Amino acid sequence: MRVPASDHTSPAHWQQGWHPQAQRLVSPNFGPRPAGACIDLIVLHSISLPPGQYGGDAVQRLFTNQLDWDAHPYFQSIRGLEVSSHFYIRRDGSLWQFVSCDERAWHAGQSQYRGRPNCNDDSIGIELEGLEGDTFEDAQYQQLADLCREIRHHYPIAHVAGHEHIAPGRKLDPGPGFEWPRLKQLLDFPPQVFP
Ligand SMILES: [Zn+2]
Repeated sequence: MRVPASDHTSPAHWQQGWHPQAQRLVSPNFGPRPAGACIDLIVLHSISLPPGQYGGDAVQRLFTNQLDWDAHPYFQSIRGLEVSSHFYIRRDGSLWQFVSCDERAWHAGQSQYRGRPNCNDDSIGIELEGLEGDTFEDAQYQQLADLCREIRHHYPIAHVAGHEHIAPGRKLDPGPGFEWPRLKQLLDFPPQVFP
C-alpha cells in the first residue's frame, strides 16, 4: 500500500531523538550513551542566567559554549563550564532542544538514582527556566507534562526525578517551588515513577 509522502514528514514524528516541535539549537556538549543504555529516567532541573533573571539568551549561550564570561560578574563563577541539557522550557512554555535524546547530554554531573550511578548515561535532562525556591509558570507545567508524555512514548521512562534527588546534598534544583503533586496530576504515569 502506498503511503502518502506527507506521512513521513508528519510534525508529530520524532527523528533520531529530536522532538519535532522544539526549537533546535545544537550543542557540542554531548557524547554517545553507553552501549545498551536503558533510558528510563527523566531529570528535572531549574536554571537561569544570571540566576533569577529571566528572558535573556544566556542559557542557550551556555549550552552552546557561546556565553561571554565577562558579560556579567556571576558568569566568572562558571567560566569555562561545558554543559548541556536535552531540553529547556522557558517561562512562556516555549520548548528548546540542544541534544538528541539518543545521545548523552551533560546535565546531571556526579549522581546516582534507582541503584545506578552516572545518570547522564541513561537519562533525559529537562531544564526549566527558573530558580531554586521560585515558583514556575502554568505554561511550563503544561509544556513539561506534554514533553514527558512524548518522551515516554519513545523511551521506557520508569522514573521522573529532580536534580536534587539524584545528587542530594550537592544540587537543590528544581527546588521547593516546583509542585510535584501538580506534575503528577497532569501526567497519567504510575505513582511510583515520582520521587
Ligand atoms: Zn540541575
